[in-house]
Amino acid sequence: MNETAVRPASEAADPALDALRRVWGYPAFRGLQHEIVSHIAGGGDALVLMPTGAGKSLCYQVPSLVREGTGVVVSPLIALMQDQVDALRENGVRAEYLNSTLSAEDARRVERAMRAGELDLLYVAPERLLTDRCLELLDGSRIALFAIDEAHCVSQWGHDFRPEYLGLSVLHERFPSVPRIALTATADPQTRREIRERLALDDAREFVSSFDRPNIRYTIVEKDEPRRQLLGLLNGELRGAAGIVYCATRKRVEETATALRAQGFDALPYHAGLPVEERAANQSRFLREDGVVMVATIAFGMGIDKPDVRFVAHLDMPKSVEGYYQETGRAGRDGLPSQAWMAYGLQDVVNNRRLIDESEAGDEHKRVSRAKLDAMVALAEADGCRRVLLLRYFGEASGPCGNCDNCLTPPERWDATEAARKLLSCIYRIRQASGFGFGAHHVIGVLRGEREDKILERGHDRLSTFGIGADIDARTWHAVLRQLVARGLVEVAHERYGALELTETAVPVLKGRQQVMLAKASLARAERVKGGRSRTRTPGADPALAIGLDEDSAGRFAKLRVWRLDTAKSHGVPPYVIFHDATLAEIARRAPTGLDDLRGIPGVGATKLVRYGAALLEALSAA
Ligand code: ADP
Ligand code: ZN
Repeated sequence: MNETAVRPASEAADPALDALRRVWGYPAFRGLQHEIVSHIAGGGDALVLMPTGAGKSLCYQVPSLVREGTGVVVSPLIALMQDQVDALRENGVRAEYLNSTLSAEDARRVERAMRAGELDLLYVAPERLLTDRCLELLDGSRIALFAIDEAHCVSQWGHDFRPEYLGLSVLHERFPSVPRIALTATADPQTRREIRERLALDDAREFVSSFDRPNIRYTIVEKDEPRRQLLGLLNGELRGAAGIVYCATRKRVEETATALRAQGFDALPYHAGLPVEERAANQSRFLREDGVVMVATIAFGMGIDKPDVRFVAHLDMPKSVEGYYQETGRAGRDGLPSQAWMAYGLQDVVNNRRLIDESEAGDEHKRVSRAKLDAMVALAEADGCRRVLLLRYFGEASGPCGNCDNCLTPPERWDATEAARKLLSCIYRIRQASGFGFGAHHVIGVLRGEREDKILERGHDRLSTFGIGADIDARTWHAVLRQLVARGLVEVAHERYGALELTETAVPVLKGRQQVMLAKASLARAERVKGGRSRTRTPGADPALAIGLDEDSAGRFAKLRVWRLDTAKSHGVPPYVIFHDATLAEIARRAPTGLDDLRGIPGVGATKLVRYGAALLEALSAA
């Protein structure tokens, strides 16, 4: 207490803010962080819902420093504990972890330190925590709080279910007076309820933060040649930037990674079919080196807290808006401009539909899955602000964002009433003539009057709708069809290989009683939106442009990154553990010449200033 007496009153009054500034070098809390931290520091329980990248970790790390004893963090991701602990240690925090990767000797050392009260934070895998040995260790230690990270893992409905999480209610029974904080980025009410029930968090205060990620730019383009389109995106200012490319299948992952490597990208594959060691090695390179592109199935990503992922690209459409948001949310945790880009086509709808229909799930589950897919399709086909739709999906109202494709280049709309009628009646006629429906390619072929074998064999060239749409090109017809599917006028039935069927909603349009305005989906527009094209840089350029640095600063930024990579390698930690891109960018902008110039730069805490300040200045002044 002596210490506080000499500090200015305002600082002493808020030990949490003081810790944030001193240890992390951040000037202020973000969003709900301050409230959450105060609540936990005061001994309350909390359920925290924040999108990826919003800053959940500080919500338990700061109170762990402020409260007496050790903060115990339950985290399911053993492979990432080491990095989290390294990052804390770089800031001078006394952190350790206990999991199966530790030798018996190291584990004993950690346990001793814990009992002696020498730890600020201890990360533990859930299965480890539930052992008698670990519970006894906790009995014999002073505990500041329990943090349960990725708390949605208790949900049996979710895709990340971990049975060990169900055992965590023991924490409440055994340590009733220790505050608990459960955190997740999964926001739906069902999961929230389950977390409360299963973790006995009935009285916990709920903190729901805005799910907006303003620095992420959303773009969804019509899928044409997805790999070429992806290259179009990456060959601009994103060259040299770290990113994730999601594909639906292992095969596509492999092919895409190979194609990107052939174009000079440092691309690595990741999917459940790869040997464990190869997966681990690829993940480690992604985390520890700059500018690696991970091409992956959704098996990759949970718990990856690499802050400088500059883009997340989807070559196939996710099954739900939740999935899309979680995956795209891995971009730009450092708050710098980042891209979420997706190529989407009708085949994505067909494939996802088939997966749902052929799954073993019960009818109710299938109904829910279909509704989720419909919402995803609606997002992909939207002609208004993507962010408004995304946030509305999570129950938040907002206005046009100015940072999505549709805001930046509003799609032109056209009166598609006549075209829609032609398409709908063509689907109807074909079904009437054959007794069953046909797929998009066939229907559009009939509309355009193509004399293809399949059309002639079926006698569809004699239908009244044959050739009535010859004036519109096939691509436009596909765009019209996709939008009609998204609006629920047409259904894609998987049992017949993507056969098209009309729904009740189609009737008023078919009868000419309802006007249909559609967005002009043109490839030209898709090309314009990605922006980076016009300023194409040489291969291997650093992504300074992507984060908005001028030429002088970009030069310093490049020097700093080289220094950081060397330092990270010699310390055996990922580069962002030394300093984030955002911090390096700010240093580059300020062009510091002495240690005093570094003080107050966000991300330069007291420990890092001492540890790296001089080396960093030296790196900057070197020619
Ligand atoms: P989450 O776990 O919610 O995905 P993190 O805790 O990893 O997010 O935080 C995301 C990034 O934002 C981290 O790199 C973190 O250092 C940074 N961050 C969090 N809170 C702040 C803050 N108050 N000021 C500056 N940076 C912050
Ligand atoms: Zn927008």
